[in-house]
Amino acid sequence: MNSLTFFWNKDIYAKNKTSKLFIRAMKENIAFHRLHCPKYKKILDMQGFNESLLHNEASLALIPPLPTLYFKRNRLFSLPYKKLRIKATSSGTGGIKSKLGFDDKSFYYGMQMVCRFFSYHKLISLKPSHCIILGFEPSAKNSVAATKTAYGASFFSPVLSHTYALKYKDNSYIINIDGIIKALKSCSKSLFPIRFMGFPSYMYFLLEKLVQYKIKLKLPKGSKVMLGGGWKQFGDMEVSKDRLNYLIKDRLGIDRENVYEFFSVAEHPVPYIKCKNEHFHIPIYSRVIIRDINTLKPLPYGKVGILNLLTPYVRSMPLSSVLTDDLAVLHPAKSCGCGIATDYFELKGRAGVSQIKTCAAHAIDFGEKV
Ligand SMILES: [Zn+2]
Repeated sequence: MNSLTFFWNKDIYAKNKTSKLFIRAMKENIAFHRLHCPKYKKILDMQGFNESLLHNEASLALIPPLPTLYFKRNRLFSLPYKKLRIKATSSGTGGIKSKLGFDDKSFYYGMQMVCRFFSYHKLISLKPSHCIILGFEPSAKNSVAATKTAYGASFFSPVLSHTYALKYKDNSYIINIDGIIKALKSCSKSLFPIRFMGFPSYMYFLLEKLVQYKIKLKLPKGSKVMLGGGWKQFGDMEVSKDRLNYLIKDRLGIDRENVYEFFSVAEHPVPYIKCKNEHFHIPIYSRVIIRDINTLKPLPYGKVGILNLLTPYVRSMPLSSVLTDDLAVLHPAKSCGCGIATDYFELKGRAGVSQIKTCAAHAIDFGEKV
């Protein structure tokens, strides 16, 4: 039986039921990369790791985690890059980007996962909607994963129109907040809901403009706001969630329950969404380990460390266990109380690049091409 069949599971948080398959899938995934990616094989061998060591949930921590920064400096592929269907880059905060590629099979499982995930959270609708993308208009020159994700996610309801916060014109991007306001004014009289998706910073810029212009709209019932990707270069302008939610309700008439917050990492293409208590629970497609910043040892619940994300479905690249540059804390499911049966994590800011380098340096020959 194919070990990835659990990606079809309707309950996307049924961890106990799918645990055996997850471990088997991780084993198979790593064995595949070992066979097809010599650089990865070298790392595994250097660490003395063999997939036969994987026999329960705790043993997953033995898989050597590769820092996202490592993917920015090295090209690791297990399938020929030319043959990959989807090509993307990470957003490249700080100037360096990871080159990413996904084959047909990984894309297929990724789509299954995203469809189940959106369906579980009732974000798939047959009712057409107008779509406001709070980010870049896709273009041949833009291969950033976040641009592709926001555009792809807009099709979870039939799209009547797309309006972009950053419009592509004459080989560059121009800010288009006034264009969004114009679209909102005309769409607010329509019967069809409006879906916003993208970066919280552009949502805030839009809301500020509405305040400045003294415009208050009551958007059609069913309108939703889906935010993700963080504030990036606008970090110093970040406002609290409460302030953002207040403005969304005040200026657009959208209730808190229709505002969704996502988390994802380009090098770990699994979606996370905040529950009603504002927690990122871990779906069946992945596992989360929090590691000590100095020793990389797994930490217990409640301790701040580096966020390590694991998933078994990508065949084109060894993204099996990825060490992000986010600091986070893990909490047991029961301490949330929302009813979702899996543990959740809380983000606690970012670790410095030098910290990541130091903590990963003993694990792999970091700066050099392996
Ligand atoms: Zn919860």
